[in-house]
Amino acid sequence: MADIFTNKNEIDTREKIFSMSETLEELKKKGPAPTKTINIVTRRRLTDREIIMCKSVFKDSIDYKKIWIVMGGFVQSLSGNAITPFGHIITLPRKDYIDNPDFTTADPSLRHWFMHEVTHVWQNALGFQGMNKVKRVCRGEYFKTVGSPDASRGEDISPYATDLRGRDLYKKFNEFNYEQQGRIIEHYFDAKFLRYAKPTRRHHQLSLKLEPYVLYTLKEFLENPNDKSLLPSS
Ligand SMILES: [Zn+2]
Repeated sequence: MADIFTNKNEIDTREKIFSMSETLEELKKKGPAPTKTINIVTRRRLTDREIIMCKSVFKDSIDYKKIWIVMGGFVQSLSGNAITPFGHIITLPRKDYIDNPDFTTADPSLRHWFMHEVTHVWQNALGFQGMNKVKRVCRGEYFKTVGSPDASRGEDISPYATDLRGRDLYKKFNEFNYEQQGRIIEHYFDAKFLRYAKPTRRHHQLSLKLEPYVLYTLKEFLENPNDKSLLPSS
């Protein structure tokens, strides 16, 4: 009759567990396991150069080290939109995420787009609740196109539409909604900082025309981007 206390299998199992934990200890000391893994990085921090670019507009109003740039999912990649809904996160369509490890060296059109997205981070950082986008999507406004003299195509989906030389003349920054604020910042950035980056671009030429109006609207923001009263109400 076999003695259960000297059961060979049981001892083997114990030994296995023991040697496994030993192996794990060894691995901890030696670093990662020597296996091939395909590492898909789906988020990153801002590069030092991107932080400098952001500071040129938002100064010290954002904790740039907290920002994550995240690769978006399938639906978002199809729509080609960047969404910056919560906190310090910029979610980009998959291709834009992969193609742009550093937006300071990206095509100028992507650079001002990036600064538009950072505007949403700024809004969130100062306390804006960016949930309105969800309501707008529900109301279908994101799919309506309206005339927008400040868009390089001359029209825009309705939340973005502005007319700084016409109906929005003399409006203050906080009277614009959060998408329009993004649009105004991208024009400011393009006119001021992208003068030598493909300057014949339509967006840049429009930015130059709008610059005096943009500077009027942004006066308080440029003086103090930490001022919460600059936040949009919608
Ligand atoms: Zn936006």
